[in-house]
Amino acid sequence: MRFPARFAFVLGLAALLPAQEPAPGVRELAGLVQASRLSRTVDRLASFGTRHSLSDPLSDRRGIGAAGRWLGGEFQALTRLPGSRLVAFDDPFRAEPGPLLPAGADLVNLGVLLPGTDPDRTKQALVLVAHYDSLGRDPKDAAGDAPGAVDNASGVALVLETAAVLAATTPAVSVYFVATAGGAQGLLGSARLAHRLKTEGIEIIGMAAADCVGNTLTADGSKSGGAMRLFSDGVPAQETDGQRRVRELLGTENDGASRELARYLKRAGDRFVDGLDCLVMLRRDRLGRDGEQTVFTREGYPGVRVTELIDPFERMAPQTLAGNAKRTADTPTFFDAGYCARITRMMVAGVRQLSYAPGAPQNVGLGGCGTSDAKLWWTLPADPRIVGIVLYRRRADGVQWQQTRGIAKCESQVIPGIGTDTDVFAVATVDAQGDESLPVSPRSIAF
Ligand SMILES: [Zn+2]
Repeated sequence: MRFPARFAFVLGLAALLPAQEPAPGVRELAGLVQASRLSRTVDRLASFGTRHSLSDPLSDRRGIGAAGRWLGGEFQALTRLPGSRLVAFDDPFRAEPGPLLPAGADLVNLGVLLPGTDPDRTKQALVLVAHYDSLGRDPKDAAGDAPGAVDNASGVALVLETAAVLAATTPAVSVYFVATAGGAQGLLGSARLAHRLKTEGIEIIGMAAADCVGNTLTADGSKSGGAMRLFSDGVPAQETDGQRRVRELLGTENDGASRELARYLKRAGDRFVDGLDCLVMLRRDRLGRDGEQTVFTREGYPGVRVTELIDPFERMAPQTLAGNAKRTADTPTFFDAGYCARITRMMVAGVRQLSYAPGAPQNVGLGGCGTSDAKLWWTLPADPRIVGIVLYRRRADGVQWQQTRGIAKCESQVIPGIGTDTDVFAVATVDAQGDESLPVSPRSIAF
């Protein structure tokens, strides 16, 4: 225990406070997001004409090479912001030949790292990605126009802006902000990143893929308003047979770590962003499709797709568009900067809170089955910043958590009068500033 006197004080306070006390600075940080900077990024990336992975690597004005060099410069510029703690990196790699890359390709991921400050959690990280390549009318046409303004200059703009706003912060765990290459050729950049971080022993405690976060135009030409979607796995992609049997006993098919991350981001959006309705979709992804988050969830990490409400099918990647005669180019005309700014504010708030939060509870179990008193237990990591526990509860027909209760630091709790059959539970840790870990639902059961 590093700060015994202060610790004792906040422990007492936390026991009395509701779980959702204001986290200082989060709203202010979210408010720093500038729609004009998002527009500038989208306009500039679209101006390279195409960012097809096989487009011109050498031209200064057109193609993936010029776009990548400009983007690398933007990440470098973030390291020079006042007080910035960001470290820029690029990660060139060779993509092997495949159906959409007949001769293979030299690709590069670009980004910045915000180093964590907790010496006991140096191997834990959050990851925010957006692919920066684009596709035009024909997926094999590397020369034709493919401005990719919404798909996915908008996601790259979100990543750059989130990194800019959080540049001088001092999170407990590291945060990687990455523009990934080769998204259209099989999520190659994300696969490279996930593999590399795993090889380096990095435990990703949460990742989000921002992909198409700027369109508000519906098919009939009206505006869709302020809603966006968070897609996530309800059941972990790497679940073992044994885990499945326990999960079926617990009825927690809607409570995997990815789904909790989606709920966490929604709460950040609801709390800190005006005019944004974050929809927690009870689906892994859009029908028949997947995204960069699935690369990470298959490696066992919690991952979420962050995306607009309306997929503009007439402007999207061509493999989804067979026979769509109304196709138009994905130009900045269709980018709604104010809308993207609201989604970016949600991401700033969510990343800021989760990156500062203490370590999550482990070995969460549920008992009291067949009685009217649910019992939860868990073990806490040796994280001296944990000052309290937040118990989450909802009825089993609910999507969102309906009740939260802050209690003193402990490793078990009986909830009198609440049976286990109708309600779902989870447990989070909280620090003195109110930053909460991801809630963890029970993974074991006792009768
Ligand atoms: Zn995309």
